[in-house]
Amino acid sequence: MSDSTSRPALVLFAAGAARWPHWEGPLRAALKAAGVAADLVTEAAPEEVDFIVYAPGGDTPPDFTAFTRCRAVLGLWAGVERIVTNATLSQPLCRMVDPGLTQGMVEYVCAHALRLHLGIDAQLRAQDGRWNHAAPPLAGERPVAVLGLGALGTACARALAGLGFPVMGWSRRQKTLPGIDCHQGRQGLQAVLSRAQIVVTLLPATAQTENLLDTETLGWLPHGAAIINPGRGTLIDDAALLAALASGRVGQATLDVFRVEPLPPDHPYWGHPRVTVTPHIAAETRPATAAPVIAENIRRGLAGEPLLHLVDRQAGY
Ligand code: NAP
Repeated sequence: MSDSTSRPALVLFAAGAARWPHWEGPLRAALKAAGVAADLVTEAAPEEVDFIVYAPGGDTPPDFTAFTRCRAVLGLWAGVERIVTNATLSQPLCRMVDPGLTQGMVEYVCAHALRLHLGIDAQLRAQDGRWNHAAPPLAGERPVAVLGLGALGTACARALAGLGFPVMGWSRRQKTLPGIDCHQGRQGLQAVLSRAQIVVTLLPATAQTENLLDTETLGWLPHGAAIINPGRGTLIDDAALLAALASGRVGQATLDVFRVEPLPPDHPYWGHPRVTVTPHIAAETRPATAAPVIAENIRRGLAGEPLLHLVDRQAGY
C-alpha cells in the first residue's frame, strides 16, 4: 500500500550505523510482507521523511522539528525515558512491543525466580561432600509480586502463575487478569509487597516510579524477600536496598538495570554476596520478530489506522 501522494513512503532508519546491518534485511522483508511500498534509508532530507525508526544514541538529543511530514517515530526499545521528554518531538511516538523481547523477559524472570525459589545458589556453593538433604518447597508456597502489568509484566505474571507460583500484580490502573491477584494504588502496593517472597519490577522509568522501592516500601517486605529488577535502575533507591540487604530484610537482589550503565566497577553491588548483577541482558529487541511490528505500524500510518503501542506522553510510557 502506498501513500496518498503515491510515492513510496520514505522510512529513515535512525537507530545507529552499528545496528543497520542487523535491521536492514528484516525490515525490508517485513515491509514487503506487509505490502508497504517504502524506501528504507539511513540518510534523507528531514522534510521528506514519512517515518523514523529510532533508537536513542549519542550525547545530544535529536531535534525532530524539521521532520515536518513525519507521521510517527517508531522506537526500537520498550523503555522510552530517553525520548519521551524530548520537547522537539511533536510526532506520535510508538514504543516496541516485540514477541521476541517478551519471550526473552519471560525466560529471564522465570529462570531467576526458580533459581531463588529453589535455592540453587546455595546448592552450587555446597559441593563440599556433605549430604544436606533439605528439599525446597513447591512454587505454590512462594508468593510472587510483579510490579508493572504491561506487555512484559503480564507475560511474566502469567508464566510464573503457570509454574505454580501464587502471583500478585500491581499497576497504575486496576487490571483484571485471570489467575493473577491484581492491585493498584499505594495501599495495593503495600498489600502486594507485604506478602511477596519474590518481587519482580517491570515498571517504566518515570517521575512517579522513581525510588518506588525505598526504605519505607522495602520495609513492607517479609524478612528475607528477594528482588528481581529487570525494569529500570531508577525504580530502586540503591542506598535503601543496600541497607535492606544488610539488615536481612532483603535476602537477595538480582539486578539487570542500573542508574549508571555500565555499572561502575567500584559499585557496592559488584561482589556483594547476595546481589547478582547481570549487564542489562534480560531481554533484547530481536530484529526478526520486531521488524514486522515496525512494518505493521507503517502500514497502519499510511492507511490512516490507529498506531500500535502509542506512548502516552503525559504518563511518560
Ligand atoms: P508497559 O507495557 O508500558 O507496562 C508498564 C506497566 O507499568 C503498566 O502495567 C503500567 O500500568 C505500570 N505503571 C507505569 N507507571 C506506574 C505507576 N506510577 N504505578 C504503578 N504502575 C505503573 O511496559 P513493558 O513493555 O511491560 O516494559 C516495562 C519496562 O521494562 C520498560 O519500561 C523498560 O524500562 C523495561 N525493560 C527492560 C529490559 C531489559 O532488558 N532489562 C528490556 C525491555 C524493557 P498501567 O497498566 O496501568 O498502564
